[in-house]
Amino acid sequence: MSSATPGTPETGSGVPADDPSGPIPFRLLPDTADVSPEGHLTIGGCDTVELAAEFGTPLFVYDEAHLRARCAQAVAAFDGGVAYAGKAFLCAAMARLVVAEGMHIDVASIGELETVLRAFGGDSVASRVVMHGNNKSAAETDRARQTRVGRIVVDSFDELDLLDELHRADGRAPRVLLRVTPDVRAETHDYISTGQADSKFGFGIAAGDAEAAVERASEASSVELIGIHCHIGSQVFRVESLAQALGVVARFAAEAFEGHSQQLRELSIGGGLGVAYVESETAPSISEWGNALTEQWQKLCGQYGLTARLTAEPGRAIAAGAAVTLYTVGARKEVPGVRTYAAVDGGYGDNPRPMLYGSDYTAFAPARVKDPRPDRVRLVGKHCESGDVIVRSAPVPAGLAAGDLVATPVTGAYGYSMGAPYNRIGRPAVVFVADGTAQLVIRRETVDDMLALDIG
Ligand SMILES: *Cc1c(COP(=O)(O)O)cnc(C)c1O
Repeated sequence: MSSATPGTPETGSGVPADDPSGPIPFRLLPDTADVSPEGHLTIGGCDTVELAAEFGTPLFVYDEAHLRARCAQAVAAFDGGVAYAGKAFLCAAMARLVVAEGMHIDVASIGELETVLRAFGGDSVASRVVMHGNNKSAAETDRARQTRVGRIVVDSFDELDLLDELHRADGRAPRVLLRVTPDVRAETHDYISTGQADSKFGFGIAAGDAEAAVERASEASSVELIGIHCHIGSQVFRVESLAQALGVVARFAAEAFEGHSQQLRELSIGGGLGVAYVESETAPSISEWGNALTEQWQKLCGQYGLTARLTAEPGRAIAAGAAVTLYTVGARKEVPGVRTYAAVDGGYGDNPRPMLYGSDYTAFAPARVKDPRPDRVRLVGKHCESGDVIVRSAPVPAGLAAGDLVATPVTGAYGYSMGAPYNRIGRPAVVFVADGTAQLVIRRETVDDMLALDIG
């Protein structure tokens, strides 16, 4: 399944404009992206050149309307319980936004869990939280139990042992899903492919572990078994891969739950929907993905006599396209006959994906958003690594020079959240923009913040 985002401003026909030397296509920019009379990119009615001046660079600018629209699509496509995968990008403001839009929220550590709980000033939000992790500590698991999170996704027999042990102390029996691996390979990078049998995640179906886990959990008094979870990987463009996993899991669930007192009440198909990062890519919308899976699920329910609801956990597809990163060029260097480098004030620390996965991005100049981009530069960061490349061959307007702003679109997922503190370069600030107002939601990390951990 591949279809362009409808109604791209530059063609009006839904056909992607993938001339990489033309102006940045608006389909790669957040929903409310527009052009000011001076030719500057605006998002949420805010001039990005002014945002850079006010908040400094590097700066993540998130379009609130874009985020809300993606959440609404996800909520509409499923039967309820659809969760935002917080690891894609999480802070208090993001947690409040996604919950306000009707989503539940996935967390995978005590840090993510506390971020969500404290965003609401207490445990009131806990019923919407789904606790993940392939190696949850006893403290993490117990905090999830004590706050009564909506679901704990159990990943291993050791975790079932831990839940038994904790139950003996207080008698609590949290609602759980069992994570299974269907041995479906997503066509994506190995590091983000998680559904194959040879995976650190979940109970293997082929190995018989998944069936044994259902057997055990449905009899255990330490948990209330609600259903099954599976997540085959991330940045998956083919809805067919996900639909195939759904088929394998539905069949497994129908067989494994047969004859048990517990009924299958819920199946979560995880996240994984891919997004377009560069001019040459297109991706299904959240609605297309969700509707295709829901339709497939209804068929499978008919086939296997199941009545469970289908949920999902999109992360990237909610957050990625909502943000751009603004950088300032500090140094330009020509290597004659080879290439031109443009070095910016961020890099690996705010976007490790190119270094981790060889991911491709594109670029543009926010002060000249309608200009064609005939030049090619290697956009690099300021970390002490030759591998600190943001865009290997970035199309930019002619004459991009030190002092100019340059931006990378589609950086809202796995950028800020995955960035590392290498070289003690502070993490960037993050603003949410809407209706002409910018709200600082994460302040820039200072040297004092970093030194606060040093002792002596
Ligand atoms: C990472 C992850 C997701 C979200 O994946 P995306 O590709 O960002 O949609 C959902 N569920 C689980 C269990 C994950 O690990």
